[in-house]
Amino acid sequence: FFDTALRPIITAAAASDRIKATSQRLTVTRRVVERFVPGETQDDVSAAIRRSLGNGLSVTIDHLGEDTTDEAQATQTVDAYLSLLEEMSRMPSPDPKALEVSVKLSALGQMLPRHGRKIAEENVHIICTAAETAGVLVTIDAEDHATVDERLDILRTVRRDFPSLGTVLQAYLRRTEDDCREFAESDVRIRLCKGAYAEPPTVAFTDRAQVDEAYLRCLRILMKGNGYPMVASHDPMMIGAAHELVAEFGRTPDSWEHQMLYGIRTDEQLRLAGDGHRVRVYIPYGREWYGYFVRRLAERPANVAFFLRALADR
Ligand code: FAD
Repeated sequence: FFDTALRPIITAAAASDRIKATSQRLTVTRRVVERFVPGETQDDVSAAIRRSLGNGLSVTIDHLGEDTTDEAQATQTVDAYLSLLEEMSRMPSPDPKALEVSVKLSALGQMLPRHGRKIAEENVHIICTAAETAGVLVTIDAEDHATVDERLDILRTVRRDFPSLGTVLQAYLRRTEDDCREFAESDVRIRLCKGAYAEPPTVAFTDRAQVDEAYLRCLRILMKGNGYPMVASHDPMMIGAAHELVAEFGRTPDSWEHQMLYGIRTDEQLRLAGDGHRVRVYIPYGREWYGYFVRRLAERPANVAFFLRALADR
């Protein structure tokens, strides 16, 4: 209860322009952010990718940004991905599926007036074309609930040309079990996460136990189906359930994977990889780290305490 009650409060406070500007200026914020974001530049993220690959992990890279307000900004995001993909194409990796990028439709222009959807879809297409040449997979991240229908529509359309394109389903949304049923029938790559946005109870479960139960129901549907489930959770209960379902449905190691965020439960990431599982670490980079950082604070009050302690020690 404590966790779910705090999420909307932290998210609402963080939306204040003054709090955003002050936190971005503080050196101490940057120190805490470094736990979750390896840096702002392509060089920073390249070093993190090489380290992860060297440790036997797969990666998915997110160029941070979600408040795209004009087309030029969306084009800059696409350019950042193209440059990154070029560099990733030169990274030697023993596993052909080890490299992936994650994209947010809002960063690619989805919210722009009039042609937002069309612009975002074209930008996904451009990134998928370059990713295919580079031997890199692409997954579309999930954002707030109002954007789900359009995102899934874009996925269905772009997959006609790029069948390996995947997306994210958020177990906390009441609709997600039905979405899982639809996608479990095809061979699509689906990342299942609990969900990180502050959503109203009309569309989402807000009680932690209910979210966990929904996650387990969705995971069962995906594991039983024909797709490629990506189990995006640090929760030992979800990790254990994934292993049980893999055994129950006779899935091979190459037909599903674990995913976790950069800086969270790193020892567990390495342990699972050492046991022979494919483990993908989600690595965000870039200057627009604020929204991502706030979601990491909001999903775990202990992180807020950690941040406040760092402020006090300044
Ligand atoms: P929780 O019950 O929240 O956490 C379980 C344990 O993990 C905690 O006890 C703690 O030990 C550790 N932990 C979890 N979060 C933190 C944290 N912030 N700091 C420190 N420790 C922590 N959400 C979206 O809405 N859209 C997306 O596209 C999306 N993509 C994701 C991609 C990946 C690869 C992952 C791993 C998560 C993604 N998420 C996304 C976030 C997700 O929805 C959850 O908010 C987040 O993963 C926490 O849920 P959990 O399943 O780890 O379980």
